Amino acid sequence: MTVYTQHKVLIIEDDATSMAMMKERMLDIGLETVCTDSLYQAQHVFSSSAPEEFLCAVVDYCLPDAPKGQAIDFAIESFLPTIVIADSIDEATRMNILAKSIVDYIPKESAQVFSYLSRLLVRLDRNKKIGVLVVDSSRASRSALTALLRRHNFITFDAPNSDTAIGILRANNNIKLAIIDQHNTGASALRLIAELRKNHTEQDLAIIGIAADVDRGLSARFIKSGASDYLYKPFNHEEFFCRVMQNVERIENIETIRRVANSDFLTGLPNRRHFFERVESIQKTQPDQQSLAIIDIDHFKRINDSYGHDCGDYCLKELALLVADYFADYTPARFGGEEFCVYFATTSHQEVLDTMQAFRQAVEQAKLIFEGQSIRCTVSVGVTSQAQEGLSSMLRIADEYLYKAKHSGRNQVVSE
Ligand code: GH3
Ligand code: MG
Ligand code: MG
Repeated sequence: MTVYTQHKVLIIEDDATSMAMMKERMLDIGLETVCTDSLYQAQHVFSSSAPEEFLCAVVDYCLPDAPKGQAIDFAIESFLPTIVIADSIDEATRMNILAKSIVDYIPKESAQVFSYLSRLLVRLDRNKKIGVLVVDSSRASRSALTALLRRHNFITFDAPNSDTAIGILRANNNIKLAIIDQHNTGASALRLIAELRKNHTEQDLAIIGIAADVDRGLSARFIKSGASDYLYKPFNHEEFFCRVMQNVERIENIETIRRVANSDFLTGLPNRRHFFERVESIQKTQPDQQSLAIIDIDHFKRINDSYGHDCGDYCLKELALLVADYFADYTPARFGGEEFCVYFATTSHQEVLDTMQAFRQAVEQAKLIFEGQSIRCTVSVGVTSQAQEGLSSMLRIADEYLYKAKHSGRNQVVSE
């Protein structure tokens, strides 16, 4: 089976300035453009390529050989997710465009629209990994909304009632957005939102409540029950996607902030603060066996002094990869400077020592090459499995063993 990476965008646009701007933007976000300036040329180019290679098509409404949106129909019929761009058009034409199965319609009102287009293209690619749940008792409404969402490449789920919705959310942690219709789900929509918030915070799951136009007071009640946003029916799909996009982006931004805040800048490993948080949450489950190891690179100052600080950084990153690899099943962190720390729960003392010895040997044998020079690196490790008095006491004891390891010749693991 051929697996295509969809990084091409077919552009059909006769205006050279717009074409140049779009081309530049797409290059910036790593997309390859296939540029055509007429329907005829697009048909010609497309006949010799695989549609699967294309993320989407960006199509101008009015072209010399297709003045009334015929190129849009061509793109849709070619199974390309289609984004329409257009110069000033009347309302009837706009509604006509929006009635087609397009991804979005972008009026060429200012240079800002090209930023929106870039955002949209990035979204189309990312949406492939994002789940959206639609809760509505009407099968027709569910199908209509999930079809719209699939046009934007989302993975869709739908539920006719609260119980099914809760089950689906529990089983699929890729769901970042739930869309809940008040009209068809009845008073239970507000209850469902409140219920979902018990297990899914505003940071993990966006919820959009949908209400009927007559029910104007509902928006505030939605928000107070825990919804992130709301929409009144009837809405057009342009409006719908703007809300969906904003809510999904907000969740992603929070994830990014969280990741940055929790990881060490140089190595990407969890940082000291995050390490404490994770250990504390594991300790709440009262593990019957706990151990802690402090790993310290031997004579690291010499590496910096002999080969330069960049080489030191390189070694730290390489060792961090080994740490991540060897302790993927445990809780590792970069503790500071040239020190790493690993917390083990429900692992026997002997297994901890064996894993540490294996890691120590792997470091000793690692082939580190920086700017053509081969660097040797070793680590000393202090390990304790005395957990009675908590984490800070474990850190103190492991540090004492580390000190012993250093004074007994380095490159060794010392423990009880
Ligand atoms: P020992 O075997 O006793 O641990 O000797 P050492 O040289 O490893 O220990 P020392 O604490 O004297 O020196 C640690 C060095 O680590 C000093 C510091 O400049 C360096 N270091 C700390 N953080 C970084 C970093 O992020 N990048 C680089 N390149 N060096 C770092
Ligand atoms: Mg040190
Ligand atoms: Mg050191």
